[in-house]
Amino acid sequence: MNPLVSIILTSYNKSASVGQAIESVIKQTYPHWELFIMDDNSNEETVGVIEQFLDHPRIYYYNSHVAESDRYKTTRYATLINQAIADSRGKYLSYLTDDNIYLPQRLKVMVNYLEKNKTVQIVYSEQLVKVYGHNQTVTQEFVRKNYGILHKAANRVDHCSVMHTRKIANQVFNKYQSYWDDDPQFWLNGDAAFWTRLNQLQPFYPIPQVLDVAWKFPESFQRLYLHVPNTIPDGTLIRGLAKDVYLIDQQKRRKISEEMMTRLHYSKNSIIKIPDPFLFKYDEGAPVDENVLLSPALFPNQRLVKSKNAPAIYYLQNNRRYLIKNMNTFNYFQFNPNEIVMVDDKTIEAIPNSQQIIEPLNTIQNILPNGVLWKSNQQFFLSYNNRLHPIQHEVLKRLKLSDSKAVTLPPTFLPKFPRGKSFSYVKNNLM
Ligand code: UDP
Ligand code: MG
Repeated sequence: MNPLVSIILTSYNKSASVGQAIESVIKQTYPHWELFIMDDNSNEETVGVIEQFLDHPRIYYYNSHVAESDRYKTTRYATLINQAIADSRGKYLSYLTDDNIYLPQRLKVMVNYLEKNKTVQIVYSEQLVKVYGHNQTVTQEFVRKNYGILHKAANRVDHCSVMHTRKIANQVFNKYQSYWDDDPQFWLNGDAAFWTRLNQLQPFYPIPQVLDVAWKFPESFQRLYLHVPNTIPDGTLIRGLAKDVYLIDQQKRRKISEEMMTRLHYSKNSIIKIPDPFLFKYDEGAPVDENVLLSPALFPNQRLVKSKNAPAIYYLQNNRRYLIKNMNTFNYFQFNPNEIVMVDDKTIEAIPNSQQIIEPLNTIQNILPNGVLWKSNQQFFLSYNNRLHPIQHEVLKRLKLSDSKAVTLPPTFLPKFPRGKSFSYVKNNLM
């Protein structure tokens, strides 16, 4: 009469909230549960909080001890959930994250529903979402409502608002050879990927009642991911949770120190904060350190260089230097005089010379400098390798590119240059 519910809590470095998530399970009015705390090698502070609960007879603890170099090879929480499903015994499975709490009735209401409606295998409930700003203040609050019987629950139902039978999880396993798909492409919405698998077998049935509370902290992955494009354009400075700053150069991430940022005239204000899984997707390239001043082949691209002894200003791209014809040309492309880096003649000469950058632009033989922002009516483009890549306005803002600095595209010019892949963000309906 009282079937066992296995709750799978995934945890990583949220010492401020993981304890409350665990307590919310202990306080359930329905007694017949087991809790699997799947910790992904959190810091000591977080493990210290979790350890306070490990005497509880129905709490099981697992630490992945994942190596940092392996952390971004799979969608970690999906990997941990797969293991917990295999190790647990409950008739029903339910998910929890370290920044969410179940309301006391959650298990009772869901189990009752599933026991009364034997053909139903998946239920979902409403969720109260509290968005936090800095200083622990709630900046926004809303309820994620029910949408009736859902045949497409992906990106509509949150990770922590679902309960389903083990039976249907096993059917998923038989069909796909795994429960959750932990391919790293699903970091942003691994739950949605699993809901899609479940939906191949059955719709989600609604329980029109708020049964959990989600806390969205500023560092949350989904918030950091907002409007980040599928590809980070070359020339962008990025950082993750750690303080290290990287320059994206030829689609590699190159570590750059504060001192080198100053020496190469990068602005600290242009650094973009992105989620770690997205940062580590980029292979690491040679660091931008003192060596780049000695070895011109290592000099970062999309920089302006000039020698003290000559007026010529060059723009570097694809490891070559391009002479900028004159100051009109310089101004036309909205190059910034404050970004010119003074180097010695030898360094300049050691960089292979290429074409001149000129304007007006008439033929595709003209060089469109890499990373220039263009505007035509309300459409924006970034140029790379003489292609115009459309860029969404939200992405542009997220990358801290100033739309007022966009170069107006002459109408005759638009059809002349080929279009490139667009910089667009991944839509996520949850935040
Ligand atoms: N997580 C994990 N390993 C990591 C990062 C995150 O297991 O390296 C877990 C985390 O504990 C949480 C889930 O993945 O349960 C989603 O992470 P987060 O809360 O940061 O993302 P968001 O709430 O923004 O989706
Ligand atoms: Mg979360």
